[in-house]
Amino acid sequence: MRHDIIICGCGPAGAAAGLTLARQGRSVLMLDKAHFPRPKLCGGLLTWKAVRLLETVFGETMAALTDAGIVTHVSERYAIRSPRAVLAQGGLPYPFHFTDRARFDARLLEHAARAGAEIRTGMRVAACDPGAEGAGQSRPARVTLADGTALEADRLIGADGANSVVRNSFPGLDKARFNRFMAPAIEVALDPAALSGPVDCPQLHVGLLEAGYGWVFPAGDRVQVGICGLRRGNVNFSSVFRDFIDYLEIDPAAVPPLRGHPLPYGNALDDPAWGRALLAGDAGGFVEPLFGEGIFYALCTGLYAGQAVAKAMDTGQAAGPLYNHRLRRDIHPELRWSDRLRWMLFRAVKLAGPRSLGLFVNSGSTRLAEMVHGMRSFAWLRPKRWYFLEQ
Ligand SMILES: Cc1cc2nc3c(=O)[nH]c(=O)nc-3n(C[C@H](O)[C@H](O)[C@H](O)COP(=O)(O)OP(=O)(O)OC[C@H]3O[C@@H](n4cnc5c(N)ncnc54)[C@H](O)[C@@H]3O)c2cc1C
Repeated sequence: MRHDIIICGCGPAGAAAGLTLARQGRSVLMLDKAHFPRPKLCGGLLTWKAVRLLETVFGETMAALTDAGIVTHVSERYAIRSPRAVLAQGGLPYPFHFTDRARFDARLLEHAARAGAEIRTGMRVAACDPGAEGAGQSRPARVTLADGTALEADRLIGADGANSVVRNSFPGLDKARFNRFMAPAIEVALDPAALSGPVDCPQLHVGLLEAGYGWVFPAGDRVQVGICGLRRGNVNFSSVFRDFIDYLEIDPAAVPPLRGHPLPYGNALDDPAWGRALLAGDAGGFVEPLFGEGIFYALCTGLYAGQAVAKAMDTGQAAGPLYNHRLRRDIHPELRWSDRLRWMLFRAVKLAGPRSLGLFVNSGSTRLAEMVHGMRSFAWLRPKRWYFLEQ
């Protein structure tokens, strides 16, 4: 069975790519192993830039998502804590919006379906071949489903998350390097009554892990408690999580069985293209490596992958260089500068203790919050220009 474009994965990256291509009248097949709405382990925090992208590309407003019960909490404050003290806290120049990921993702997928993308869920991609184009070679991309069905496409977008099958089919990929920066993450949703006080703003907890952090996020009628970090030494994440629960004075009996999911944490690929395939979102490692923000980067790289594929099909150019051009302009510099900042902060906390982080944040909290939101760049806090806002 032959299609113009196949997108593996219907999360935010796949939905943005599928919507972009279907709007341009392309025949798009979107595959996902799950049926939607599907559970997704995530804090669901949206920054200013994610809100702007949802408005610009999906036509979604926070008011509409709140009415639909998808935005579950809005916070204009934050707190950063260590086990011994509140390191920084204060107001935000723009609020954080918290979403129910299962319903958020299903809503974004509806946009792609309404634009004309064909969605097939409950279909697990078991293997794939990214195909070939150029230099005298031409071979379509191939996807084999778990039931043995083989599908072919002129173009393939791998938006199949952190454990991407599409990525693992790229022959030149340094898998060991990618996996070295794959952070284990654990998160549970708790009844707010299980905590010793109300949680009305997001809390970040440092000093639990050498290269990572914990969080307590408001989530409507629940509270999300999680940790993530790089594997440094012999760290046992379940035991760090239990210590975190203990320090938050939560009765372990109130904690459901622990659930985990890997988070790409500093492994964005420089060239996420091979043959006829592009990678977007977690599949390409596009997560901001200080705070682990991935929803915006999934949406934005999905948008750019869709635009690159559409332009490649119009002009006969290869999609890889078109996609990489957009990533180099907007995405890679942010992720690189955020990576530098995180190592500086992780080292400062290790050598001088968590208070050094508090001093850093308090030295310019408004501008740093604007940086987290994407109003300013991680590169020297310069005002940030996002090209999707100018198209
Ligand atoms: C614990 C935790 C908390 C987080 N909190 C936040 C947060 O608060 N804010 C934020 O911005 N980011 C957060 N992130 C990161 C964010 O969740 C991801 O970066 C984001 O979901 C990436 O979107 P995606 O579309 O690339 O991948 P996903 O959302 O993972 O979607 C991938 C899709 O591919 C499908 N799929 C996978 N394999 C196959 C296959 N073989 N065949 C068919 N389908 C397949 C899956 O079913 C899934 O629907 C968090 C991550 C974790 C783990």
